[in-house]
Amino acid sequence: MKVKVDAELCVGCGLCVNTCPEVFEMKEDKAIVIKENVPSEKEDDCRQSKDECPVEAIIIE
Ligand code: SF4
Repeated sequence: MKVKVDAELCVGCGLCVNTCPEVFEMKEDKAIVIKENVPSEKEDDCRQSKDECPVEAIIIE
């Protein structure tokens, strides 16, 4: 599973970082992906982050 953050959409709320800090990190006022290839044990957390994102900026492939 791969994940991306659309920096144009991200409003920097930090929810994804709270839910899945192994994959997301705040850089200045945006979330970035630090592990594009999501470890299998983090896939559920990553999907939860996608569901929680208020602006649907998280893209899972
Ligand atoms: S949850 Fe969405 S809007 Fe909030 S920091 Fe993460 S990607 Fe950005």
